[in-house]
Amino acid sequence: MTDVTFASLGVAEPILRALAAENYTHPTPIQARAIPALLAGRDLLGIAQTGTGKTAAFGLPLLQKLSIGHVPPRPREAKALILAPTRELAVQIEESLRTYGKFLNLKRAVILGGVSQNAQINAMKNGVDILVATPGRLLDLVQQKHIRLDAVQVFIVDEADRMLDMGFIRDVRKIVAQLPRERQSMLFSATMPDDIVKLVGDMLKSPERIEVTPQGRTADRIEQKLYYVPMPQKRQLLSALLKDEAMNRVIVFTRTKHGANRVAEHLSKTGVVAEAIHGNKSQNARQRALEMFRSGKARVLVATDIAARGIDIDDISHVINFELPNEPESYVHRIGRTARAGGEGIAISFCDASERDYLRDIERLIRNKITALPHDLPEMTEAQKAQAEEPRRPHGHRHGKPGHKFGGHKPGGGGPAKKRNGSRAHWNRKRDAA
Ligand code: AMP
Repeated sequence: MTDVTFASLGVAEPILRALAAENYTHPTPIQARAIPALLAGRDLLGIAQTGTGKTAAFGLPLLQKLSIGHVPPRPREAKALILAPTRELAVQIEESLRTYGKFLNLKRAVILGGVSQNAQINAMKNGVDILVATPGRLLDLVQQKHIRLDAVQVFIVDEADRMLDMGFIRDVRKIVAQLPRERQSMLFSATMPDDIVKLVGDMLKSPERIEVTPQGRTADRIEQKLYYVPMPQKRQLLSALLKDEAMNRVIVFTRTKHGANRVAEHLSKTGVVAEAIHGNKSQNARQRALEMFRSGKARVLVATDIAARGIDIDDISHVINFELPNEPESYVHRIGRTARAGGEGIAISFCDASERDYLRDIERLIRNKITALPHDLPEMTEAQKAQAEEPRRPHGHRHGKPGHKFGGHKPGGGGPAKKRNGSRAHWNRKRDAA
C-alpha cells in the first residue's frame, strides 16, 4: 500500500464512492502507477500477477473513460473489450467492474465458451460498454456477425502468458487484427516469454511499463514450507495438517483432474467439507464449487492449475501443493493465491521422491531454498509400501491407456520423453492438466 489516495490519482467521484464502500483506502503499487498513465490515455504493459490489484488498476480508468460524455452503445458493438484466458477470470473481472462501477450506468456483458450462446447473443443485441470475453467464443460470435469489434476504444488482454499456455494466442492475434487502429491498449502478464514480447510489440504503442513483482520472485509475505513425504502417505499428512483450525480457508493443488477428485473425496470421507474444481466440470459446477468455498461452507478447495487461474478469493489462509507442479512458474502462481492484497499467507508443499526435480526447478526460479519440516507420520503400511514401489505413470495418471489421445507423434517414440535433467519434456507436459 502507498500514501497516495485514489482521489489524488485523478479517480472521479462516483468511483471513489464505490471504492470507499469496498474499504479500499489506498491504491496498491500497480494502481498508483497505472491509473494516472491510463487516465492520460497511455498504453500499458503490466508485468504483474493476480493479487496485486491489477483489475482495479485497469478497471478504474476504463470505467472513468467510458462514463465521461457517455453515449449509449450501438447494436452489437462493444466500446471496451477485455480478453481473459479462463471463464473464471472473465467472470471475476466482470464482477469487479460491476462493483467498482456500481454508481455508473454502464452496460456490461460476458462471453464464455462452454455454455449456450443464445443468452450471449441477446446480451449483445443492443451493444454494451464493456465486454469481457474468452477468445474462442468471442471469435465465433464475431464470425457469426453477432458482435462487431470496429467500435472498440479500449482493448485489454489479461494474463497474456496464460493465453499462450492455453493455445489462445492465435485467436488473440485474430481479434487484434479486427480492432480499430486508434484505441487504447493494455496487456497484463505475470511472465514475459518471447511470444508475449512479440504480441506486445504488435499490440501496444509506446506503452508505460509497470512491473510489480520481479519475474519468478515470490511475494515475501508468504511463508513457504515443505514436507518430504512419499505419495501414498500424502493424504494422511493432509488430514493431519487439517486438524489445525488455523487452516480455515485452504486451496489444495493437484497436478491432475483425477487427483483433484480423489483428494476431495478423501477429505469429504474424513469429515472435511471440500470441493474440487477442474476443467472436466461444467461451468455451473465450477461456479457452485467456488461459491461454496468463497462463502466458507467448504473449508477446502481442491484445484488443478488451469482451473485455479484467476480465482480471486481473499483471506486464503493456506495453499497446499499436494503435488508439485511440473512447471516452476505454476508454483509462483499457486502460492500467490494466498497473501493477497497485503495479507499474509502460508504455502506448504508435499514432495515425493519422484518430484525432487520439480522442487529443484522451483527453488532455482524463486532463488530460495524452501525450508523442509519433519512430519510425525507412522511408518508406511505394507500396502503403502507396495503402492510406493508401483512404477509411476506420468503425473500420477492412473487411467492412461496406450494410444491415449494426447500421445500424438512426439519425438522419441514410445514412452514419456524425459529431458536430461529428469523433468518432463515440454511436449509431454500438458496431459490431463487442469
Ligand atoms: P487482483 O490482483 O485484481 O486480482 O486483486 C486482488 C485482490 O485485491 C482483490 O480481491 C481485490 O478486491 C483486492 N484489492 C484490489 N485493490 C485493492 C485496494 N486498493 N485495497 C484493498 N484491496 C484491494
